[in-house]
Amino acid sequence: METADVQGAANDEPAEPVFGDGLFRQKRKKGKYRVVPPPIPALEAPVADTHAHVQMLADPAAELARCAVHGVGFVACVVDPSEDGDDRGYGELAGWREGATARAGAYADGVRGRMAGERETTEGGSERDEAAVSAVPACDLLGLRVPDVRFIVGVHPHNAKDYEGASGRLRELLADPRTAALGEIGLDYHYDLSPRDVQRQVFRDQIRLAKEAGLPIALHVREAHDDAFAILGEEGFPAAGTLLHCFNLDEVEVARWVEAGCFVAFGGPLTFKAADDVRRAAARVPRNRLLTETDSPYMTPEPMRGMPCGPAHTVFTAACLAEVLGCTAGAQRQQLLEQLMANARGLLDRAPTAWQLAYGKGDDTR
Ligand SMILES: [Zn+2]
Repeated sequence: METADVQGAANDEPAEPVFGDGLFRQKRKKGKYRVVPPPIPALEAPVADTHAHVQMLADPAAELARCAVHGVGFVACVVDPSEDGDDRGYGELAGWREGATARAGAYADGVRGRMAGERETTEGGSERDEAAVSAVPACDLLGLRVPDVRFIVGVHPHNAKDYEGASGRLRELLADPRTAALGEIGLDYHYDLSPRDVQRQVFRDQIRLAKEAGLPIALHVREAHDDAFAILGEEGFPAAGTLLHCFNLDEVEVARWVEAGCFVAFGGPLTFKAADDVRRAAARVPRNRLLTETDSPYMTPEPMRGMPCGPAHTVFTAACLAEVLGCTAGAQRQQLLEQLMANARGLLDRAPTAWQLAYGKGDDTR
């Protein structure tokens, strides 16, 4: 999770309009929007968003329908029990997927029509992207499927000060078999929204809890990589896996995390114009430890920065990652995308752990 000002938007700016049609848009001047075509040719295999705050999106069902159109096949929804009310995410998922299923066909028709050269008639006149004219949406190659959704639950370092009150609910949600990891947890010394000593203790507590539950952890680390790495060294990296979320540093920093066996997830920052460091770092991560993500509604990839991000935006990051790794469209890119999906599902689309099953049966050996 990042706060909105990271994207350069003032906090008092009115919310973006919800278009609800499966297209991607870039913000232009004077309240105008330009439709941005998805990667062309369409990605050869479905991709995964391993970090999306789906419950924070303006219209989660619409976002999942957009995923269905553009070939995002798996989404990990990140929930924080200290700030998300009792049923946020978990209680809403069935409704989101139902709504997405109802809308996906119409969205696909709309995107297909648009990509066939239909003119956009939003306020501000019509524009047409020549590149999109002969292209087809990913769903015409991969099928129209609402993504599988799993949960990542944990108390964000910003909210470490509220950990005690949330820890009971955290355990309950961890035991839900749809939960695939504990996160996002870690340290954030940029905002310092919780005292650093409290952040460190809560980080330790949650690493221990993840180990007890047999689940991987998803890390949020900002301007605190030395401390976070040291704490993990002392506590031991969980055997189930460690995912370093939103990597936006250089190849020197990424090296020790890779060496420690971590998965490294890249989102919007990989696509930012000035982010050559991040792209070089991505090239250093072994293919079997690379992941794609969004951090939606934050961290919108280029060329849509300034717009709210949804999990469907992952296709832009995945296309960029393929380019960074020198995989051309076609068989090469397909192989990479299949590996990225296998990485995501292997880590996060897991069978319930023994701890999760025992919790469901009322086993209170914990
Ligand atoms: Zn996040």
